[in-house]
This record gives sequence, structure tokens and C-alpha cells, in this order.
Amino acid sequence: MKNKYIIPIFVPHLGCPNDCTFCNQRKISGQMKNITENDVRDTIEYYLSNFREKEVKIEVAFYGGSFTGIEPEMQEMLLGAAYDYIKEKKVHSIRVSTRPDYIDKPTLKRLKKYKVKTIELGVQSTNDYILKRCKRGHTYQDVIKASKLIRRYGFVLGHQMMVGLPDSTEQDDINTAKDLIKLKPKIVRIYPVLVIKGTELEKEYNKGEYEPLTVNQAVERCKELCYMFGKKKIQVIRIGLQNTENICSPSNENSEVVAGPYHETFRQLVEASIYYDTIVEKIKNFNTKVKEVEIIVNPQDVNNVVGYKRENIIKLKEMYDVDVVIKQDIKHTADKIDVIISKTHKDFIDDKETVKNK
Ligand code: SF4
Repeated sequence: MKNKYIIPIFVPHLGCPNDCTFCNQRKISGQMKNITENDVRDTIEYYLSNFREKEVKIEVAFYGGSFTGIEPEMQEMLLGAAYDYIKEKKVHSIRVSTRPDYIDKPTLKRLKKYKVKTIELGVQSTNDYILKRCKRGHTYQDVIKASKLIRRYGFVLGHQMMVGLPDSTEQDDINTAKDLIKLKPKIVRIYPVLVIKGTELEKEYNKGEYEPLTVNQAVERCKELCYMFGKKKIQVIRIGLQNTENICSPSNENSEVVAGPYHETFRQLVEASIYYDTIVEKIKNFNTKVKEVEIIVNPQDVNNVVGYKRENIIKLKEMYDVDVVIKQDIKHTADKIDVIISKTHKDFIDDKETVKNK
């Protein structure tokens, strides 16, 4: 059973004072026209009529653009349309995403009035040089101020950060995560930078001034950040841009992605890599020459144990000469794996000897 249904409503580029060099929200969201009050109602009605499970909480999420940068009257119109459904108890909460420099007390009071629960800040980096380089138009100080104010007003605070921004090293990305952790968000989204058509970044890329991360580099960086956020119980609710008709492999002719670490199951690559590290660590801790292990998991975690195209199983065999037998147990705690030795090298050799002597 799902724990929450999201009704996404995109407000592409509404409220943005400028174009950040990597961004083309219209392409990313797949939505080219601006949104009206009626669009909000139509979208909510459409989703409500398609949700199957009845006991699940429903949230309306205004994504893209900078919600609190929109004219206040228009914000009230859009929020009012969603709030009607909260009053009718058909929707349970509202979330908005916005920029750190568009948060102040009057804005937060307005959001409170319409029962907005979660505010996600597009931070991207906490390094002022990198923010400037990407023409973000705000500073790390704005992030600190906005985050503190959001929490003081009792909203759920979310942060969005990017990895692989121009001139951002691995250490810069790690530093951004460290800075965000200090600001105590409840949720985080991590986006590896993709080069999108029609952006300034595309021009930089074409001139050879920007080199995107490879998929492997992006997976490694995101994995490190997941460990950091996980240790502080900050939930990583998204890794990588959502796949859409336009956000797909650069090899697809409709794709708006020119280059960068695109992968259709990017999050799974990161999670599978985390599982791989866990399995290897457990095997090493056995401190004996292991030939075969049995891994017990909840069925929902099998793909992460196996890895994309069985990558984890293949690597365990190639790197450590370990075979894997997976046992699925519906009662096993999700996100947790138990690894037990089913055969050591000695057992394996003894078995072979027995067969030979028969
Ligand atoms: S990254 Fe955010 S603030 Fe920048 S242009 Fe895109 S939607 Fe607007």
C-alpha cells in the first residue's frame, strides 16, 4: 500500500527572476504554458478520480519555478483552489518549492493561511562562488535565513541540492550536504546536473567549458551524500530528475537532455551500490574465505541486492569469487539485509573431493 499520493502541479519558470544556467523548467517539467486556477482544479480532479486506494493521504505539490516569487494575488488564487479540496477533506496537505531569497515573514504567513505543510528550497549549492557561477542570484546566507524562518514557522523544511555543478568538486558537493545537515531539513532531493537543451550550460558544454559527470561519478557522489543524510535521519526523497517524454536518454530523438549522467533508473543505481557496499562489508567481517552467501531480504529490496543488470552479483563473483543465493522473506524488515555464509572455500573443496572419490 502506498503511504502518500502526490498530485503534481507544475508552475514552470513562474516567479523565477532569471534563468539559472542549468535550468529550463519548461523542458524539465514538460509543461510549456503557465498555469491557471482552473488548471489546478482540473489537475486535482483528474488525479482524484484515478487514485485507487482510499485510505492514503493525498498531497498537492506545486513544483518547478519559484512559487513564492509569483505575484501574491496569483499565489493566493492557486493555493485557494487547492485549499478548497483540503476543506472538503479530499486533499490532506500542500507543498511548494521555491527559492531561498523568496522567503520572508509575510510570505510564510500567506502559506500558513492555506495550510501549506512543506516548503522545499532549491539550494543547489552552499558555495557562493558556485551559486554565482550558475547565476542563481542568491547566496548561502539566504539559504540559512530562509531555512531557519521556515522551521520557526512550523513548516516541514526540504532542501534540493545538485551534484556536478560547474566548478563544483566532489568536496564542494560534500560541503553542501554538511551545510544543509546543519540546517536540519526533514527531506532532501539530490539532482545530478544534466545538460538540458536551450540552457546556458548547453552553450558552455558545446564550447568545452563544462564537463558533466559520468554516470559512475554521479552515482558515487550521490551515494556519499545518501550516507551523510541517512546518518542524520534526513530522508532522501528523490535522486535524479524524473523521467519524462523529454527527460530521457540523450540518444532518444525527443530527448531534451544533451549530455550528463542520465540513467532511467538512476536512483536504483545509487541504492544498489549502497547495498553492494553493505554486502561486501559483511562478507569481509566474516574474516574467512567465503565461497557462497545466502542473502535474506524483503522482496521489495531484491532489485537492490541484485543490482542493475545483475551488476552486484557479477561484481561479487568477479572481485571476491563469491556466489550469492537470495532468499526473499516477506516478514523481513525492509531496507535491511542479513548475510550468512552458506559455503566457505573449505566446504567447497571438500564437496569437490567427495564427488571425485565416488
Ligand atoms: S533552477 Fe529554479 S530558480 Fe533557477 S530558473 Fe530553474 S526553476 Fe527558476
